[in-house]
Amino acid sequence: MSDIEEFNKFDLSDLASINMGSLRSDSTRKHAVCRYKKGVRKEQRRGPIDVNRIDLHPFVLSKRWENYARYLLFHEYIHALGFSNHGPSFRALDSKWPNSDDRDLGKRFYLYLLKRNGKWIWRCRKCDFYSLRTVRCNGRYLCGKCMSVLIDVPNHLGSKEAQDFGVSLT
Ligand SMILES: [Zn+2]
Ligand SMILES: [Zn+2]
Repeated sequence: MSDIEEFNKFDLSDLASINMGSLRSDSTRKHAVCRYKKGVRKEQRRGPIDVNRIDLHPFVLSKRWENYARYLLFHEYIHALGFSNHGPSFRALDSKWPNSDDRDLGKRFYLYLLKRNGKWIWRCRKCDFYSLRTVRCNGRYLCGKCMSVLIDVPNHLGSKEAQDFGVSLT
């Protein structure tokens, strides 16, 4: 990041001390998140000092996805510098990542997760809870949030649908 001219005007030294955490491994669309400290409003975000943690998807840390992991960290670091949304200034910085192919790995990683995380979605009908699984729940399990019986929904998003679906980086 420090090799890229556009970042010269930022103090990057505090980025390395940001705590790193992990997203739920059954997350499919979310691959990384920059979490600000509680009580820091959007317009108050100054930089790494206001960041609580950056979470990465645990599966992105494997050798196979290391290029994508590097890009994700770069992307979240820009959020950590105080750019909380994906507005024009954010996009201008994000576009400086030297290998634009790495950004496209998001779609492939998403498809990999769908495949890896299973064919079934255990879904709660009452709240927004869901979990991707390799086996059916057959009505045997309750939602951990609201205690309703979970139902099985087939997870058959094809690659075409997944592409249309897009992948959100947050
Ligand atoms: Zn529920
Ligand atoms: Zn983002």
